[in-house]
Amino acid sequence: MTTRFGSDPARLGALDTPADSVRITGVQAIPFALPYHRAPEFASGRVGTADNVLVRVRTDAGLVGQAEAQPRPYTYGETQTSIVEAVSGPLNEALTGVDPLRIELVAERCAGVAGNRVARGAVDLAVWDLLGQILECPCHTLLGGFADDVAAAHMVSFAEPAVMAEDALAVNERLGVSTFKVKVGRAPGLDLAAVRAVRDALPDADLYVDANRGWSYEDAVRAGDELAELGVRAIEEPISLEDRVGRRRLAERWAVPLVGDESCISLAHVDRALNEHSVRMVSVKTARTGFTESRRILDLCLARNVAVVVGSQYEGAIGAMATIAFAAAFAATAGHPAEITNFLDLADDLVVAAPEIRDGRARVDTAPGLGVEVDEDRLARHRLDR
Ligand SMILES: [Mg+2]
Repeated sequence: MTTRFGSDPARLGALDTPADSVRITGVQAIPFALPYHRAPEFASGRVGTADNVLVRVRTDAGLVGQAEAQPRPYTYGETQTSIVEAVSGPLNEALTGVDPLRIELVAERCAGVAGNRVARGAVDLAVWDLLGQILECPCHTLLGGFADDVAAAHMVSFAEPAVMAEDALAVNERLGVSTFKVKVGRAPGLDLAAVRAVRDALPDADLYVDANRGWSYEDAVRAGDELAELGVRAIEEPISLEDRVGRRRLAERWAVPLVGDESCISLAHVDRALNEHSVRMVSVKTARTGFTESRRILDLCLARNVAVVVGSQYEGAIGAMATIAFAAAFAATAGHPAEITNFLDLADDLVVAAPEIRDGRARVDTAPGLGVEVDEDRLARHRLDR
């Protein structure tokens, strides 16, 4: 097996790694299901229970790297089953025997498995967790360590407008969060009513919206123009990704940035979207591009002077810990609210201690790696494989 750059990672790994280095002995995927207090619903899908996958990268030193994958079949085509198969099959094979400190070798091996973005993203995060544990350093510091905390943005899922406003108000009162991403993309009238309701409940809040491709071009023009007047800061994925001309027109039409999310699922996708002028801001999600590719996307955006929002795939607490570590680590992301609160919509989780959000901000974990400690009783209760 050779890499895209001509070297042979199998030979490199075999010849140049010191005998006393840590080796990956296997990559495991554990499917689990968590109940919601409040099930997320948006234009492209609904999540009844959090049917996620715990990824564990084991080593001969006894250290275990951990991360969480969230299947989104309507966005990436990956299911819980396909993620389990990709992680425990080809990704396990690609990484067994590799020294986890050689993160570029890990990335290159994973890049040899096509598609499977969420599976690969979670494996990358789990190896970074391991890296931090081996070096006894938090991932946040290894990535750059710019700030110790980051402001939180909360996503408001579909409901009746009054219920959406209540959700935002409750999160504001309980956690001090003052930035909200309101899900839109149903019908312009209903969407405008929802944003107005949130605006009335929280006159000083920062609002932006995400249509998850739910509008037609005409709906997007109508709703988008009025939403901009209501003071929303950005409009995410208004219409079908196939309508490339329409997306460019909307990006040019609105004074507020059109945010690329589903159109920006990899470094190459971001490059294309920026070249086409179809997005003016980019959502980076560690849940799909891990730390390694997310960092490359961030660098590309920096070079093009394009703002970034650190987005959420409705992660559980484990996913939120990775997102917080990444968002706080860089100057380009730490100053902008990151979407990190939605693990609180879950009625239970796998961790001993979930991230704390206070005064609208989340502090980074100072434990080595990602600081994930799984409660084995909870895992036993929620896992689906036994
Ligand atoms: Mg989105």
